[in-house]
Amino acid sequence: MGEPQGSMRILVTGGSGLVGRAIQKVVADGARLPGEDWVFVSSKDADLTDAAQTRALFEKVRPTHVIHLAAMVGGLFRNIKYNLDFWRKNIHINDNVLHSAFEVGAQKVVSCLSTCIFPDKTSYPIDETMIHNGPPHSSNFGYSYAKRMIDVQNRAYFQQHGCTFTAVIPTNVFGPHDNFSIEDGHVLPGLIHKVHLAKSRSSALTVWGTGRPRRQFIYSLVGAARGTAVPQNVSWSCRAGCGEDLARLFIWVLREYNEVEPIILSVGEEDEVSIQEVAEAVVEAMDFHGEVTFDTTKSDGQFKKTASNGKLRAYLPDFRFTPFKQAVQETCAWFTDNYEQARK
Ligand code: NAP
Ligand code: GDP
Repeated sequence: MGEPQGSMRILVTGGSGLVGRAIQKVVADGARLPGEDWVFVSSKDADLTDAAQTRALFEKVRPTHVIHLAAMVGGLFRNIKYNLDFWRKNIHINDNVLHSAFEVGAQKVVSCLSTCIFPDKTSYPIDETMIHNGPPHSSNFGYSYAKRMIDVQNRAYFQQHGCTFTAVIPTNVFGPHDNFSIEDGHVLPGLIHKVHLAKSRSSALTVWGTGRPRRQFIYSLVGAARGTAVPQNVSWSCRAGCGEDLARLFIWVLREYNEVEPIILSVGEEDEVSIQEVAEAVVEAMDFHGEVTFDTTKSDGQFKKTASNGKLRAYLPDFRFTPFKQAVQETCAWFTDNYEQARK
């Protein structure tokens, strides 16, 4: 953690995670503007479940802006096991971070919700107005209600104090520096790790569940092999280079999105894929020729949570996402190249 100096001081909690590392890379690669100081922190800098440690961190950094990513995070099977821990840890982290940001006078906080907090029984596509319209899927109710409360708290800070505390709602995220733990992680990093092991052991790949559930995925980074054509008359995130995808969208929200209401950060509804298609993309990217089986004794989780990116498109109509298969290939290559140090 470096000492901040500039006029805009951005504190990123969860800076060592999948999304935090992607934002760090985009900032280091040229997104940083003159006068901006970016401070990325992890649990080593402060345990944000602890109010005193959180307060001390905010008093030391005195951020003008906050991107709040830190959370207890996990895939379907970790959520099923630890609903209580997801609820308690995330409620504490979120209240400590939001209130410390308020107390040190931060102008803006961008927190992170997720499309998996949406109601299970719903019409599709789901949009930003529907977050609280019914219970979330039972598999992850602890995480979901804790995340939903960020939106409640943001509205309350605005109502009582006029604060611009807002939130983004990404779909399933993946990319380099993900958590590739098979038991605890999300489906894409889990399948990449499983294919890696199946190849080295000449064994089958077992996909959990039926493979029928559907998900929208967003790449954490900018596609490395992307062309650099720069569309005119579009917002900063596209002008800055070939940049799209989650890290750049976060920076766009920080600088240019001024609503308290959250915004969904997602590829289009037409880009939703089945878990079977996800497994096929990983198999192809890793050149795996073994048997693929489905363990239908394992949970499918929420069948789908198809989200509308209509609001994002109204702001950024020309926005281009990295094609799914390209992003999967880059993530598989990153995992293979960084196997020893990858989180798993
Ligand atoms: P991640 O890779 O698991 O990283 C979690 C981050 O939170 C790490 O930097 C971790 O620090 C930090 N953290 C956890 N507990 C903490 C504590 N008690 N005190 C301080 N820091 C703590 O997570 P991610 O996938 O980047 O997720 C970032 C945000 O996006 C989260 O809010 C998550 O809910 C949201 N999100 C994720 C997805 C997804 O598919 N991954 C989808 C939608 C939304 P250490 O490295 O020190 O442990
Ligand atoms: P979710 O999107 O919040 O439900 O969480 P995940 O990213 O964990 O995705 C869960 C979906 O992928 C469910 O339909 C699982 O049955 C399916 N799935 C298939 N194989 C795996 C795997 O190896 N790990 C995980 N986490 N999910 C898997």
